[in-house]
Amino acid sequence: MSEARGTHDLGLSLFSEERQNIDIGQQIFCNSAVNMGNIVAVGFDMDYTLVQYKADTFESLAYDGTVKKLVRNLGYPKELLEWSFDWTYMVRGLVLDTKRGNILKMDRHKYVKLAYHGFRLLSKDEKVAAYGKTFIKYAFDGPDYAHIDTFFSLAEAYLYAQLVDFKDSNPEKFSEVKDYSRIYADVRSAVDMCHRDGTLKEMVAKDPKKYINEDNSIIPMLKMLKDSGHAVFLVTNSLWDYTNVVMNFLFGAHTIEGSSSLSLDWLQYFDFVITGRPSGKLINTDNGTPLAQVGGSAIELPDRIPNKHCKVFQGGNVSHLHKLLHVGSSSQAGGRCLLFLNLKERLGFSHPHGRLERNSNCSGMSEIRLRIKPITGSGPLSTYEDMDASEKEKLTAKLELLEGYRSRVRAAHQEAQRSFHQQFHPVWGQLMKAGYQNSRFAHQMERFACLYTSRVGNLGLYSPTKYYRPGENIMAHESNVLSL
Ligand code: IMP
Ligand code: MG
Repeated sequence: MSEARGTHDLGLSLFSEERQNIDIGQQIFCNSAVNMGNIVAVGFDMDYTLVQYKADTFESLAYDGTVKKLVRNLGYPKELLEWSFDWTYMVRGLVLDTKRGNILKMDRHKYVKLAYHGFRLLSKDEKVAAYGKTFIKYAFDGPDYAHIDTFFSLAEAYLYAQLVDFKDSNPEKFSEVKDYSRIYADVRSAVDMCHRDGTLKEMVAKDPKKYINEDNSIIPMLKMLKDSGHAVFLVTNSLWDYTNVVMNFLFGAHTIEGSSSLSLDWLQYFDFVITGRPSGKLINTDNGTPLAQVGGSAIELPDRIPNKHCKVFQGGNVSHLHKLLHVGSSSQAGGRCLLFLNLKERLGFSHPHGRLERNSNCSGMSEIRLRIKPITGSGPLSTYEDMDASEKEKLTAKLELLEGYRSRVRAAHQEAQRSFHQQFHPVWGQLMKAGYQNSRFAHQMERFACLYTSRVGNLGLYSPTKYYRPGENIMAHESNVLSL
């Protein structure tokens, strides 16, 4: 780079080079503008945000615990204890139709693109009979539907599909009251019990390494945010004891042996921490002193912790949070949401062959297209009735030919689309798409997240004062013009 260049130029060119070098799986994408320079505080959720659980082990634990509860507490057949969990089968964004025992993938207009009854794919006719041909507005939100939007729900969705199959082939093993809806309610309450009674947490606390991915990008990222003047906090629904175990593991104590070796050093990275509390109320927001009410005893922060003033709370609500952040009213406190999706290989943009593959799969289609000659004519079009018999015959033959082409093109297109989608996920296809449309999951993400990226540490790869700006919105008529 030439010395004669001004610093401004140099900065810009370095910046654009750096940006190009960020792998797509590490980039932060922007749905709506966020100026980090104006952001006072950055809060992190713990489970599946700062802490990435290993889905194979962690979700299997949830699954096994749930099955045991169904059998032992809710009277389900013992066979269930032999079942196993395929953690790769379900994806987020699905909707369970708990009345019919169906699992649905839909697009952003709520058009059902794929429907399974248990593990059986519904035919197009069955699907249309249940959910109609066109977009159904405002549907799928009532009590008969359950949204599988978090990783925590994958195990329950899989178990539900298994139970639907099992009930269909063994109806005698289910009492009359156990219809599909009741089975879902039972699964839900069994999952809930596992999370609440410590079944899951005990196992994780015993061997965190087995269930949690190590991530050395988090400490530098939190430090960077703090050093640039942001307040940094943690908010989690997990209770304090569990939070402390998990955060100890994440912040370096990878060989935890029992609670005696737990340290509070990790608190130095946060201005305050809010954990869940069984009764759900925030204790003490007013006096500003370091607070801790874990099992009734205060957390004593050792002197060697650089930021000794980290406050730890349990429970609370948004207005408590605003008080902690010294924000007067809710209207002053505009929140921005950054979503972390930790399965970058399923996003679509990181597929090794990307668009190229899509075109090559469609090669059958383009051959057909080349052979269709445009019908040109001079003068006004004559109607079918005006034609003589031989003209009619010719036209009918041409029409049949074209209809044949059309159905072949449609079949080739559907097949190409299916095999393209299957490369992302054999059952549900691309996470962010349902056919050509954005999936319901992608739509939710666009509406609720200002920024999204594949893992939380990626924040550390960008300036902590960066102004994230979305790309230009493109409407249907504009994209036609652009592709001409
Ligand atoms: P987060 O910290 O807001 O992500 O919340 C995660 C916490 O919610 C973890 O402690 C989970 O164990 C818990 N959790 C997830 N699903 C359920 C459930 O169905 N019932 C009760 N707790 C749950
Ligand atoms: Mg979470």
